[in-house]
Amino acid sequence: MLTYIVLLGPPGVGKGTQSKFIANELNLPHISTGDIFRANIKQGNELGKLADSFISKGQLVPDDVTIAMLRERFTQPDCKNGAILDGFPRTPAQADALELLLNSLGGRVNLVLFITAPAESLIERLAGRWTCRAQGHVFHERFNPPKVKGICDIDGSELYQRDDDKAETVLNRIEIYKNQTAPLIQYYTERKLLTEVNGIESIEAVSAEIKSVLKKVLPSG
Ligand code: ADP
Ligand code: ADP
Repeated sequence: MLTYIVLLGPPGVGKGTQSKFIANELNLPHISTGDIFRANIKQGNELGKLADSFISKGQLVPDDVTIAMLRERFTQPDCKNGAILDGFPRTPAQADALELLLNSLGGRVNLVLFITAPAESLIERLAGRWTCRAQGHVFHERFNPPKVKGICDIDGSELYQRDDDKAETVLNRIEIYKNQTAPLIQYYTERKLLTEVNGIESIEAVSAEIKSVLKKVLPSG
């Protein structure tokens, strides 16, 4: 059976952290469009240069570029049973494109987990976020510190602070989320796919809540 789960929510709410947990639970790939853009930026290729010109300002990368990139990612063999989508879709146009794409694969979005937290928590979480260069694992200097400062527990690579996690860019990203991404709350509510998860609790408590939602919603979850 094909399973597709979308993680929706503002920047810093914990989508990446919980996606890794769900991917592990369900043995599905974690697809983060932000991580794929950052990998292309690191390589210095054309897609990376284009994406960087938007990401550095906290703006969304244009839909056509992002949709084409996701379509390509879905052709890889690890996606044969579905995927956990983190940070995609981020606009109604992307959600429409996703529906068409999944139709063509014989699947559909099974569940949208909408994670919420107040703006002051988002700012605090992003200000202390440390991201791993190799695979995008995330830590927090207070809420989820690595065992050794500056080193990823999982793959030993260097941890860095993302440029777009600086306070001025964060406020812009939260605004863009409200204007361009928040309409997806209604979009997926109308389709009866949305479940809201309170993201204010600890990482473990949020994971436990998500686990109970998966049990209810997915037949074999
Ligand atoms: P997103 O992918 O939504 O931007 P992340 O998963 O990268 O969010 O989390 C943002 C930061 O907040 C990271 O540093 C992460 O370790 C931390 N974090 C995630 N979930 C929680 C939580 N429930 N409580 C406290 N900190 C959290
Ligand atoms: P966060 O962890 O804060 O939610 P991401 O790592 O998901 O951030 O995304 C970082 C940046 O990459 C976004 O601010 C945006 O510029 C770009 N991006 C990621 N996903 C998308 C998308 N689906 N559509 C457009 N831009 C995207």
